Amino acid sequence: MSEFDFDLFVIGAGSGGVRASRIAAGLGARVAVAEDRYMGGTCVNVGCVPKKLFVYGAHYAEDFEDARGYGWSVGETAFDWPTLRDNKSREIERLNGVYRNLLKGARVTLLEGRARLVDAHTVEVDGQRYSTERVLIATGGWPFVPEFPGNEHVISSNEIFYLDQFPREVLVVGGGYIAVEFAGILSGLGANTRLLYRGELFLRGFDQEVREVLRDEMSQRHNLELCFNTDVVSIDQQADGRLRVELNNGQSLLVDQVLYATGRVPHTQDLGLENVSVALDEKGAIRVNEQFQTSEPSIYAVGDVIDRMQLTPVALAEGMALARHLFGGQPIALDYDNIATAVFSQPNIGTVGLSEEQALERFGKLRIYTTRFRHMKHTLSGRQEKTFMKLVVDDASDRVVGCHMVGSEAGEIIQGIAIAIKAGATKATFDSTIGIHPTAAEEFVTLR
Ligand code: FAD
Ligand code: NDP
Repeated sequence: MSEFDFDLFVIGAGSGGVRASRIAAGLGARVAVAEDRYMGGTCVNVGCVPKKLFVYGAHYAEDFEDARGYGWSVGETAFDWPTLRDNKSREIERLNGVYRNLLKGARVTLLEGRARLVDAHTVEVDGQRYSTERVLIATGGWPFVPEFPGNEHVISSNEIFYLDQFPREVLVVGGGYIAVEFAGILSGLGANTRLLYRGELFLRGFDQEVREVLRDEMSQRHNLELCFNTDVVSIDQQADGRLRVELNNGQSLLVDQVLYATGRVPHTQDLGLENVSVALDEKGAIRVNEQFQTSEPSIYAVGDVIDRMQLTPVALAEGMALARHLFGGQPIALDYDNIATAVFSQPNIGTVGLSEEQALERFGKLRIYTTRFRHMKHTLSGRQEKTFMKLVVDDASDRVVGCHMVGSEAGEIIQGIAIAIKAGATKATFDSTIGIHPTAAEEFVTLR
């Protein structure tokens, strides 16, 4: 009999924590997981899932317009926020139940409460202490809002999913995934939306051309305004509840909501880290070695809290690799290269591999193939939106080292191409692939 209550105590039932718990329990470990907020974590409750449902919802505005060119007369349309919000919440509640049942089915002990480390082998939940051979910290991240006068009036992505009233005028601050996605969602659902970013151009780190194409596409949308090289100085609440926002260019705006999407920080507060010797990096993320082990040998960490790549599939892969390593004896061989990602902006970005700028630094001589065309659907819809595709090829080896798209269903298309790139496909392999006609995706195999 083990001297511990559990073999593995997981803190956080989000993407990484749930996956690690289920796999570990399936391999025979006695596992507990503590969750103090919501089953399924950020992705299920205030992240990927409700966001994608909102993206679908926002797209109807354009779909109604596009339908006319196909002969449909669409009567007067109206958007009802409480319907979308509450239908979304019902779906999330269903998923919360699915996650609870998955853990139950895997015989994982679920403790609903806040967990704190007491020492390297003891975790406390609601005053009850549990001993464990190992601990896995999978506590995710939390929205970061910078300090400035009036920052208490802004909301983050946590709140946007549950607003009582849909705003008419919104300011979105930030230039990353969440800002770009929510600018599209809010404007699509009918809010007059401004996106404010402190730098020259949003989505730093993405391929420059992709960023420019998205800027051009987004700025053509009615009720969406992009303001770069601008920041907020202060915010005051007016007697009627509206917010007066002073900008560093001397302008002032009056809006109903300000959404801050200026990054997320590792969620390590009130975790009892002072009781163990777990080292953090300069950004507050938990430092781990290649085996996801912290500087306290019995404590491990995966997912957003280690801040390698804040993506659900990455947290899932890390949780699974760790559980198989600890309880199945498998080596950890997680490859962070060529992880595909999508930004669910309007239109979407899909991307895998290196940007042209990164590839130039790594390989020197490149061949670049691009195309920009009007999607067949829009020949009749009349929409001016253009689809953009780009292949970045290392000239010496002919390998495709980057593939990028801005356009409808970019995420769906790039997921398939990511497999080819992971398998080391060359431009010649792309060229010898016969396309599926008529699709937008076939352009990727006809680029010359
Ligand atoms: P989380 O899912 O955040 O889970 C951590 C859990 O730990 C939470 O449930 C939390 O309540 C719990 N917890 C924290 N501290 C304690 C404690 N002391 N005791 C008990 N429980 C605790 N990624 C994508 O791949 N695609 C997307 O489209 C996408 N969209 C996103 C949209 C938004 C608005 C946001 C915010 C994120 C999005 N992400 C997306 C990122 C994705 O949600 C995260 O990368 C992923 O959820 C990380 O999983 P995790 O297990 O590390 O942490
Ligand atoms: P990001 O890290 O993507 O972007 C943060 C943005 O905020 C950057 O534009 C940054 O600017 C800006 N910023 C940071 N600090 C400040 C500040 N003090 N003042 C003004 N602007 C500031 O974070 P998000 O919050 O958008 O999303 C968090 C993470 O969640 C993402 O990185 C992504 O990994 C994940 N996510 C994934 C999604 C997906 O897969 N589709 C969707 C949503 C989130 P600068 O570039 O100049 O530093």
